[in-house]
Amino acid sequence: MSHFPHSESPSAELSGVNLAYAEGSSVLKQLDWQLLPGQVVGLLGRNGSGKTTLLETLLGLREPQAGCVKIFGQDATRLDDSARARIGYVPQHNDLFEAFTAAQLLAYFKSFYPRWNESRVEGLLSRWDIDRNKPIRKLSGGQQQRLSIIRALAHEPDLLVLDEPVASLDPVGRRDFLRELVDQVLDRGTTVVFSTHILSDLERVAFNLAFLSGGRIALQAPLDELLEQVRAFTGSVSEMAGLMGRLGAQPLKRTPLEAGRERVLARLPTNATLPAGIEAERVNLDDLFEELT
Ligand code: ADP
Repeated sequence: MSHFPHSESPSAELSGVNLAYAEGSSVLKQLDWQLLPGQVVGLLGRNGSGKTTLLETLLGLREPQAGCVKIFGQDATRLDDSARARIGYVPQHNDLFEAFTAAQLLAYFKSFYPRWNESRVEGLLSRWDIDRNKPIRKLSGGQQQRLSIIRALAHEPDLLVLDEPVASLDPVGRRDFLRELVDQVLDRGTTVVFSTHILSDLERVAFNLAFLSGGRIALQAPLDELLEQVRAFTGSVSEMAGLMGRLGAQPLKRTPLEAGRERVLARLPTNATLPAGIEAERVNLDDLFEELT
């Protein structure tokens, strides 16, 4: 759950978004999504499911064929300068100027922003072990990625979008680094969204998970609630329909079994009483990912 009230208007909002590349079927299909102020959201989806496309569309870098995308209430493709200055973006492929040193790069970007937290930049360069005076092309992939993140944090954005931000880091350090990254912005109430296809990145890092599947956000909820409330139910199709109807639950996934029975993945209140014929099984994050993406 976010630490901040949800009554404010969303930091970013997509509604009814369709996006297809020139020759191909839609990658995003009637997609609705909201990022509320202060939310930290891990965007989870398989390779090729459209995470990059979604983040680029959210940022107004791609214009969808249908639907509406807003950032801070403004049309994402026509943001004014003050809205732009409130966004931090770490693309999947860094486009850092390779001949520059880290110090030169940061000085260059600083000139574009009215706000720039020099002491945070200095602190992070030291802590993340980035040589200020080496040409960027001589830094390791992981150091370049961290530099790109420092660049995106330096102007203290209100919305921070990171596309696979730990892809170049070694497996051991990934989750800890993400945790530290999120800690860096938590006290400011920054809205953070980062994509990953690696589940273990998310534990103890993302407070909310969004599953991208079939071109839509199949489910978004706080991680602890998901683990608490999502169950795999098995029982007869008619009893199941009765249960879901009574509790107003939407099945997340239905799998037919033999003899008029089915298995249904759904989110139910933990105190819900089940009819005698229905069994419930806990699911872990791996199962959820398997089933929802
Ligand atoms: P993810 O980030 O989840 O791996 P992407 O958004 O990169 O997914 O890609 C989603 C789908 O769109 C893939 O099938 C990919 O091949 C296709 N795609 C991505 N970028 C382009 C592009 N510039 N032109 C055409 N197809 C693209």
